[in-house]
Amino acid sequence: MDCLFCKILNKEIPADVIYEDDKVIAFNDIGPQAPTHALIIPRKHIATLNDIAPEDTEVVGHMVRVAGIIAEQQGFASDGYRTVFNCNSHGGQTVYHIHLHLLGGKPMGWPPY
Ligand code: AMP
Repeated sequence: MDCLFCKILNKEIPADVIYEDDKVIAFNDIGPQAPTHALIIPRKHIATLNDIAPEDTEVVGHMVRVAGIIAEQQGFASDGYRTVFNCNSHGGQTVYHIHLHLLGGKPMGWPPY
């Protein structure tokens, strides 16, 4: 399967990994949009949010929990942070392996366009 994030999982492509466990890994985004911009991905290949199966709900919930763990580790949990899932072209998704963006370390604007 020609998936960039599966290649990162398989260590075929290097990444700056900041967290990993049996279900997910997290690494710094190559084009950071905030002082901390990490991507949390499941070890299981799931292409988009539309492809989440009932048996995947635990790992998707775990991705959100890991965002909070990283925010605590990086020291911005109490100030706050942004988490984003982009889905398909209108959502701005460019890599088709679901990933939770975690952005922190500065105030975020809204709306996001
Ligand atoms: P999205 O547009 O939501 O699909 O997000 C994909 C993200 O992956 C973008 O923020 C990219 O900067 C990031 N990205 C692409 N290639 C790499 C890579 N090799 N290592 C880390 N982040 C990457």
